[in-house]
Amino acid sequence: MTERPVGRLEILLAAYEYELGHCFRCPRRQIQVTRVGEITSPEGETPLYACRTCVAELLLAHDRALDPPDRRYRQIPRFPRQVESP
Ligand SMILES: [Zn+2]
Repeated sequence: MTERPVGRLEILLAAYEYELGHCFRCPRRQIQVTRVGEITSPEGETPLYACRTCVAELLLAHDRALDPPDRRYRQIPRFPRQVESP
């Protein structure tokens, strides 16, 4: 099989707008990068740009962080928890 189906990752990658710049995560310079976040402090904000390879790795890391292997075995509470009012 030579063709593979377009997955969620490819769709996400294609949705970003890319421009020429430096990747914050790897040593690649003057390549297509997209803004993936920022470092903020009281003094201001530094935007972070990443290349497609690093964006793909960050998206995968995000997916893994949200879906740990033990998650499906966690017991679901039977009754909704009481919401505490402030
Ligand atoms: Zn990179």
